[in-house]
Amino acid sequence: MAGEPQADCLFCKIVSGDVPATVVRETETVVAFRDINPQAPTHILVIPRVHHPDAASLAAAEPAVAADVLREAGEIAAAENVDGSGYRIVFNTGSGAGQTVFHAHAHLLGGRGLQWPPG
Ligand code: C5P
Repeated sequence: MAGEPQADCLFCKIVSGDVPATVVRETETVVAFRDINPQAPTHILVIPRVHHPDAASLAAAEPAVAADVLREAGEIAAAENVDGSGYRIVFNTGSGAGQTVFHAHAHLLGGRGLQWPPG
């Protein structure tokens, strides 16, 4: 069922604590942890506890939780002191765009100059 934990989902296992992660923030609806392969000095993944395969399906099914993901990303950017210099929130959607984990997640990237357009 949509939103239910998936046995084969890595990020569901991080939510449940079965796979370790360096968690920086947890709320009732969201978990945030440091990316294991950081692409910037600050690289944090903000994920909903509920399982949806990508950001669009999360927003369609549970818009309040999608808003929680965005709000927490902004608050973490401030807590990490990257809000002044600028940061990026990225939702890779689909394998052609680089999505490798099909549990919705926001990448929060900051702490260095970020080029546009992205690669
Ligand atoms: O957008 P994409 O699906 O590629 O992002 C998945 C991210 O999850 C990657 O940046 C990868 O480094 C990260 N990851 C992680 N911890 C794991 C497995 C993957 O932080 N155990």
